[in-house]
Amino acid sequence: MKRILVTGGAGFVGSHLCERLLNEGNEVVCLDNYFTGRKSKIIHLMDNPYFEVVRHDVTMPYFIEVDEIYNLACPASPVHYQHNPIKTIKTSVLGAINMLGLAKRINAKILQASTSEVYGDPELHPQPEHYWGHVNPIGARSCYDEGKRCAESLFVNYHQSNDVKVKIIRIFNTYGPKMEPDDGRVVSNFIMQALQNKDITIFGDGTQTRSFQYVDDLIEGMIRMMNTPDDFIGPVNIGNPIEYTMLELAQNIIQLTQSKSKLIYLPLPSDDPTQRQPDISLAKAHLNGWEPKIPLQEGLKNTINYFAAILKTH
Ligand code: NAD
Ligand code: UDP
Repeated sequence: MKRILVTGGAGFVGSHLCERLLNEGNEVVCLDNYFTGRKSKIIHLMDNPYFEVVRHDVTMPYFIEVDEIYNLACPASPVHYQHNPIKTIKTSVLGAINMLGLAKRINAKILQASTSEVYGDPELHPQPEHYWGHVNPIGARSCYDEGKRCAESLFVNYHQSNDVKVKIIRIFNTYGPKMEPDDGRVVSNFIMQALQNKDITIFGDGTQTRSFQYVDDLIEGMIRMMNTPDDFIGPVNIGNPIEYTMLELAQNIIQLTQSKSKLIYLPLPSDDPTQRQPDISLAKAHLNGWEPKIPLQEGLKNTINYFAAILKTH
């Protein structure tokens, strides 16, 4: 049994990760400041004597003895990370410094949840890990993109200068049950709109693309990455390479929900990337043949059922 710290453990991805790590027989400490996380996502784990929850902000140091740290604390939806951009940068940068300092002191292995956003609005398609990216350093998304880029630099430098055992994954758009209905991300927005027969809000002309990964595929890739040999630090792309336009996504959701919703077109947010698709060759080669297993339609059905249940109870 390992003792594992999950920062951001009460969030969408973190809550799935805590559950999976507990199911595998580990002791899990979930740390969260509840900015975008919720107790309701982890409440079903509270009876487990091997699960602990700590209300804490990663911008402040935290002391604990653990074997592994998954550093997920950071708002991920543009609406939330742009709410207080300076805090978002502090969360990524000071959070990385504090968690890397902890890992160094206690000799723990630490994995950073980085993002496809480090590629910005990419000029190379699909994006391999050796691509340096195309980020506007002063744009609306920079608090997130540059915060995550700085965190990657910190991880690499703590590894090179202090021998900390680090792992970096670059996560591409991920969806699934336990997303917040009002999170502002495209999958939750479209499903909530479709289920209520409200207009579906397409930003721009809807031809921009994203590659959507079901959350279980991400969790599998994340845990496999943590278990790779110490000399393999990444970064590694973890995402589903099948690419959709936002119009195609909307059509899929309308069809699956049998919705009467109509499409409406709203302005494209600034610096919104026009295309995004992971090259996952590195993940396949190093993570025991890992590749996404859940097709979009199946993942969407599970997510639609989750949101439909929420709507019933409100
Ligand atoms: P989320 O917003 O649901 O979860 C983030 C969690 O971090 C929340 O529980 C929030 O309360 C917590 N948090 C935020 N600031 C904190 C702070 N200062 N101290 C302590 N806790 C704090 O987002 P998510 O989708 O679960 O994303 C998890 C991680 O994965 C993030 O680091 C995100 O950048 C990364 N990621 C996610 C996606 C995706 O599509 N979901 C894509 C790329 C990267
Ligand atoms: N988007 C949209 N309608 C919405 C929400 C988002 O058309 O109601 C678009 C958004 O402009 C972007 C894509 O969907 O092009 C994905 O947005 P999301 O915020 O989910 O993720 P990110 O932009 O961070 O990849």
